[in-house]
Amino acid sequence: MKKRIWLSPPHMSKSEMSFVQEAFDTNWIAPLGPGVDEFERQLSAQLKGYHVTAVNSGTAALHLALILLNVGQGDEVICQSFTFAASANPVVYLGATPIFIDSDPDTWNIDPVLLEKAIQDRLSLGKSVKAIVFVNLYGMPAKIESILPIAEKYSIPIIEDAAESLGSSINNIPCGTFGTLGVISFNGNKIITTSGGGILISKENKLIATAKHLATQAKDPGVSYQHSQIGYNYRISNILASIGIGQLSVLEERVLARRSNYNRYVDYFLNWNLKGFNFEFQIEPAGFYSNRWLTCILVDPIKNKGLDVEIIRLALENDQIEARPVWKPMHLQPIFSSSLFYSNGVSDRLFQIGLCLPSGSSLTDEDFDRIFTCLDTLLNKY
Ligand SMILES: *Cc1c(COP(=O)(O)O)cnc(C)c1O
Repeated sequence: MKKRIWLSPPHMSKSEMSFVQEAFDTNWIAPLGPGVDEFERQLSAQLKGYHVTAVNSGTAALHLALILLNVGQGDEVICQSFTFAASANPVVYLGATPIFIDSDPDTWNIDPVLLEKAIQDRLSLGKSVKAIVFVNLYGMPAKIESILPIAEKYSIPIIEDAAESLGSSINNIPCGTFGTLGVISFNGNKIITTSGGGILISKENKLIATAKHLATQAKDPGVSYQHSQIGYNYRISNILASIGIGQLSVLEERVLARRSNYNRYVDYFLNWNLKGFNFEFQIEPAGFYSNRWLTCILVDPIKNKGLDVEIIRLALENDQIEARPVWKPMHLQPIFSSSLFYSNGVSDRLFQIGLCLPSGSSLTDEDFDRIFTCLDTLLNKY
């Protein structure tokens, strides 16, 4: 059996076990401890010195972010449609309604023109838009320079779902710090991982202090178990935070490796474009820096002699190489079939012709040889 090449497997450095060992040696086997404190300190240093709280998933961080912005029953929250479901699900946890917005064709993230149109439309109907959730998909920053002024103009707070974009930036300003609140995930498939985990980020210490309180069951100060608010059990384990400390030490290398994967794929496919194909990519505008978490290609069968992404995916799968469709937009999901959607056709097209290629930071030259040999065999037939 050939070794399977995965889409985006975890990639440990060699240091994680020593931090985990320290947690064991000191018996800090709890959802708090020195590992959590150190992980938060290092993350804060990466993120403009902003305040952070580490939690047990990116989804939990998004849920807390919406609670902090007082999102509740009957409110509307604007959300990018082209994303993973965890961007939108917490809106529903709170009894609020997501309103979905289509993508801009370059970055694939929320389209600023449609965003403003949607806000005006909702306001004209007397609705209150409580928050805007935008995403930096596959590591690519959204067009924040256009989104921020709109949010300010209508005084709507922003949640930046930077789950996939740790290490990305615009003009050297790190992703995760652009909204009122930001969220990063450390799930097993992300650029660095704690197996499961996330952080909530804000410039406002008060918001993060409240988040910590809510995430630790919202117990009032003092020894008696008194609660004045409904709380959650959302803090990260000290053991998992210890893995995170080891992972943070190699973040920059991981970003460079993923960006190098992207460049390899582009070189490869541009060569085929010279021979009559038309492969397209996610575009990094000037000043933008994507961690290139996943490399995705667009393959329009009309421009590629009938070749489509499913044919490519199956050819790779047949050779034990994992590729996956891009995220299925929220407006196409059964769970959101009755939700409003402001459309420009972009995410429908991306969903039809997009494919995520193996993008792990541990891909070897031999892995790339196998991937390209498999693709050569397929493409030569067209
Ligand atoms: C992974 C991901 C999340 C959720 O993070 P978890 O840590 O898996 O809960 C949210 N949004 C996006 C865009 C993601 O990719």
